[in-house]
Order: sequence, then structure tokens, then C-alpha cells
Amino acid sequence: MAVLAGNASAAEHKRIALSFDDVPRHAGSFFTPDQRTIELIAALDRASVEQAGFFVTTHNLQEPDGKGGEDRIHAYAAAGHVIGNHSDTHPWLSRTPLADYLADIDQAEEWLKNQPGHRPWFRFPYLDEGKDDVEKRDAVRAALHERGLLNAYITIDNYDWYLDALASRAKADQEPMDMAKLQTLYVETLVQTADFYNEIAVQAIGRSPAHVLLLHETDLAALFVDDLVEALRNDGWEIVPIDVAYADPIASVEPDTLFQGSGRVAAIANTKGWSPAELVYPRTDEEVLDFLFATNVLIQ
Ligand SMILES: [Zn+2]
Repeated sequence: MAVLAGNASAAEHKRIALSFDDVPRHAGSFFTPDQRTIELIAALDRASVEQAGFFVTTHNLQEPDGKGGEDRIHAYAAAGHVIGNHSDTHPWLSRTPLADYLADIDQAEEWLKNQPGHRPWFRFPYLDEGKDDVEKRDAVRAALHERGLLNAYITIDNYDWYLDALASRAKADQEPMDMAKLQTLYVETLVQTADFYNEIAVQAIGRSPAHVLLLHETDLAALFVDDLVEALRNDGWEIVPIDVAYADPIASVEPDTLFQGSGRVAAIANTKGWSPAELVYPRTDEEVLDFLFATNVLIQ
């Protein structure tokens, strides 16, 4: 794949864009949804993040925690960020008939297309692109092309949502936490995972693409995203607008593999002979995070 080859300096230049899924997401234990948006926008601003992507699951607007979600989505756009499609009801493609799945995407797009900051981007819920069903995978690929929707892939998969769930549960249960250690666990896990997928990219693709970090609209993001950005920069990363990331040549690659659930770099590496087990970072695992959270963050 000559189109993917780059020079040595490009291989060493690490670039990353931030994205947040499931907007407007259910509340955590630290903030109300309104407070969370205010904190998240302020943290991104403090960190000089010009443009992140917010992926909206439109049916969440009907949920109790989604009340006022339209205003929060507009606030992200007003702060310079952009809005993409993360379906209406967050279905698994592998468990949903094709026609229903496409109708769900269309339902979300119907609302999203008129919103400020809209981009014609679709992010697969659960990163489920059809699992072992190659016909379904290809039918959705064709349907996205037909609709002019880009597969808004990620390259850095992780369980930020699980760490947020652990912290929110501990907070709700009034279990004392060392917040500095929670910050460190969140930040170092994400930086390590970013470097893990970048190493794979350099080896499998021959260069460092503009990465897309998967995050969710969590309380931990609102608390720590500015610390995360600082740590990424200290680790040599440049934060780029998500428009720039999706202009990378890997945006037009459709890896011919059924291993799609760990992101675009992992899928490309899988087509080049890497096994799925080599393409998941060890901390992308509930038991590992349970252990790290219990031993580092909870005060016994
Ligand atoms: Zn999601």
C-alpha cells in the first residue's frame, strides 16, 4: 500500500485528535450533565484543543439525563467543536437486521444534519462493524458511501468508560478515593494506549497516521482531559483538529478483515498478519482496570 507509506519524519511526528461518544451521555456521580459540559468545554479550552469531535446518540435526548442535551450539543459546536452521528439508539450491527440498522442511522442524521458543527460522519456503536458477517459489513459500507457518510473510525481503543463507571460508583457509594491517583490512572492509561497503537501503526503502516482517540462524554473527561492533553504533549504528541485526522490517507482505507472492533490501525495491522491478541492493549480490560483502580485509587 504505497499510499500509506511515509517518510521517517512523518513516522516520528505523533498527531492525535480527540473524540467523545454517546452524547448526551447519562450522568455520572461528579457532575450534572449541564455541569459536565461546562467543565469539559472549559478543560478543552484551557488545553487549547481547537476542535474535538462529539458523536451524538440522538435517542439519548429522550432520556431523563438527556434533558437539555440539545443546548449542550450546541454549546460544544459554539466552542469550535464538531458533531457526528453515533446512531439513534446505539444498536449492535451484528445483532440488528440491516434495514433496521440503516433506518437508525438515518433517524439520527435527520436531526443532526441541521445542527451547527455537523459533519457527515458515522461512528459505529460498540465499534461493531458486523463482526463475522462480511456481507453485512460490506452492505453498511456501501450504504454509508451512498449517504455520503464517512466511517468515523477511531485508532486508539480503550475503556475510558469503564474507569469512569468505577469512579462514579465509588463516588456514589462514598468510598474515599485519591483523586490525584485517579487522574494519574486515567491519564497514563490513555497515553500508554495511544503509544501502543502508534507503535503498531509505525510497524504495520510504515508511518504515524493522524490518530483518533476514542473517549466518551464522561465525568472523568471533564475532570482530567486538560491533564491528559498536557501529558500527551509531554510525550511528543501534537493535538490536531479532528477534521485533520479524517483527512489522513487511512480514512479512505477499508481494511478487508472482520477484526474491526479495536479501531482502524488494529484492523489494518490485522490484514498484515497481526493477531487480534497483539492488537488490544492490556488495560483495555475490565479486570485489569478493576485491579488498578482498587490498588491505586481507593483509600483502604
Ligand atoms: Zn457509543
